[in-house]
Amino acid sequence: MGYKPKVDGILEYILYWCSFGPDDHRKGGIVRPSRNYAAKRKTPAGRPNTKRGCVCHFIVKRLIAEPNVALVIYNQDKHVDKKGLPCHGPSDKKAAGTRAMFAPYISDELRLQILSLLYVGVPVETIMQQHTEIVEKQGGPCNRDDLLTHRYVRRLERKIRRSTYELDSDDDVSIALWVDNHRDHIFFYEDFSDTEPFVLGIQTEWQLQQLIRFGNGSIVASDSRFGTNKLKYPIYSLVVFDSNNNAIPIAWIITPSFASGEMHRWLGALYDRVHTKDPTWKLGGFIVDDPSADVLMIREVFQCSVMISFWRVRHAWHKNLVDRCSDANICAEMSRRLGEAVSHVCRGTGDLELFEAFMEDFVDCSDFLDYFRAVWFPRIGAWIEVLKALPMATSEVSVAIECYHHLLKLRLLNEKDSDIYQRADWLVDKLGTKVHSYYWLDEFTGRENFARYWKDEWRSGLTSWRRALQIPDSDVLIDGKYAKVVSHKREGKVHTILNPGSEFAICDCRWSRMGNLCKHVIKSTKISRNRGLAAPSTSLFVFNQALTSILRHPPHDSVIRDHAIALAVCIQTQLTGLFDHGKGRTTSCISVPSEHQAAANSDLFASDEPVGADTYMINENQSVSENVFVNLSSEMHSVLGEDNVSYGASGSAHDSLLQTQVNTD
Ligand SMILES: [Zn+2]
Ligand SMILES: [Zn+2]
Repeated sequence: MGYKPKVDGILEYILYWCSFGPDDHRKGGIVRPSRNYAAKRKTPAGRPNTKRGCVCHFIVKRLIAEPNVALVIYNQDKHVDKKGLPCHGPSDKKAAGTRAMFAPYISDELRLQILSLLYVGVPVETIMQQHTEIVEKQGGPCNRDDLLTHRYVRRLERKIRRSTYELDSDDDVSIALWVDNHRDHIFFYEDFSDTEPFVLGIQTEWQLQQLIRFGNGSIVASDSRFGTNKLKYPIYSLVVFDSNNNAIPIAWIITPSFASGEMHRWLGALYDRVHTKDPTWKLGGFIVDDPSADVLMIREVFQCSVMISFWRVRHAWHKNLVDRCSDANICAEMSRRLGEAVSHVCRGTGDLELFEAFMEDFVDCSDFLDYFRAVWFPRIGAWIEVLKALPMATSEVSVAIECYHHLLKLRLLNEKDSDIYQRADWLVDKLGTKVHSYYWLDEFTGRENFARYWKDEWRSGLTSWRRALQIPDSDVLIDGKYAKVVSHKREGKVHTILNPGSEFAICDCRWSRMGNLCKHVIKSTKISRNRGLAAPSTSLFVFNQALTSILRHPPHDSVIRDHAIALAVCIQTQLTGLFDHGKGRTTSCISVPSEHQAAANSDLFASDEPVGADTYMINENQSVSENVFVNLSSEMHSVLGEDNVSYGASGSAHDSLLQTQVNTD
């Protein structure tokens, strides 16, 4: 099994593992069948599909200039397990049948690709046709994957067709059986005990790879309560963001809704699993979306900062305002007031009384107020606490999680018979098969070849944040309390946005009316902010606060202090320049390098070159790297990351300033 080559400019390294390792999914017992259904067959021949913990692996080193010469370095040349015992092949005394002597016929990658295509309904014929075309184009087969046959794909298809989620009529027994059969999909499992409820953490090998690839030095975000009303057990999703900042789920945790505080049980297992694969892996930040999240635990396990995302609440308010308040102007005004209240709370200039005043002022709009009073008012205290304590994640992150949540709904909750939602075995099976396949396909470069099979469940490209970037400024007209955005899809169509300038604006397009942040709102907000018509985002405000607090609270240790002071002086010089320049503006801005500057991030603090103040305007288009508020140098990171006690003066400052990682991808 080959892994992606690592290239350092002169040499290329590829690490190969034996197909039967390094994971170990063997069950105990006297014999280890080559396949798990070998006993039922007359001839227990065939290829194993089980990893057996084989530690045989080697590295192939090649000079890029001389690719025909290779150096093969065997780290372990015996097919043995961790204990040093033969784990497959002729000398494995426990192996039955063909003794697992032969490598799987195609690579895990291709197998996953075929399974994913089959799960989402692409026919065998189409898969084979595409495959044959690709092999022909490259001039014939050149590796084992090119030898894929019809027969193999048909066999996989039949296996899928015949499989059932219901392994036992008792749901709990069925889940336990599923867990037994899918050890490699699970990073944590504990059944109900006398004191604790059951927790199941699903993470496939592919999801783990995504976590390693996109999570390292970057962000993991949570969507904590999917399907609370519909499913037997809700889903807690953890997502990372790909290069377009689309969310990819890297784990699903299933536990009864009354047990939402079970994070401490599985978080460590998740961390250990990544670390076993990549000991250098480090998370940059963790975004929670629930005031009851165990922030201390997250900090302890991942040694990273924690932020809060408000998307779920904003979404719920927005959707209910649209549904329950028929007058568009009142609806927009209420949304504006709620947005203002949240913004004041985050900036430390407001409290509960803002929400009380809101309820008094809009007492006439009883339909929404009844909802607000019943659902949100009891929880608002907890939300205020968390908004004060943690820095807020940017709206790009919120948009990405909102999209993820929406897609998960399309991909999971599309069954004809909704009784099925009350079975947990159905849930885990569907997540691990169909739903997983759709997310895999989102990242599949060849997905265009299967366009004729696209259904609503396929992702239709970019998030609304990225789409907003494609709207030219000239298509946006801002006129006081309104903004208008010309539609390119439909000639002559213009979208009207009420109260542009914040995420609490309301647009008349379909996506916005569903409670989502649409591209029109994002674009008009960006323009309003650029023109100084609206205050900068709360995330930016918190970042500014954090920087200022470094200036005021230098640490005690002398080396760190010297370093920090040097940085602080640089920042202060920039700030002074900036404020001089920005006099007369309503917004205060702080330097943040754009993504392109990130590569030379440390120059921000070291450069003597005068930089135009415009470069210093924060660009609200900054992708998730807006969360990566400043790409500080790695030294700066270690200063702030490993000596947070010195920075104890301000919790929020600590949090946002740890957002210093550059995504190395
Ligand atoms: Zn082996
Ligand atoms: Zn819109």
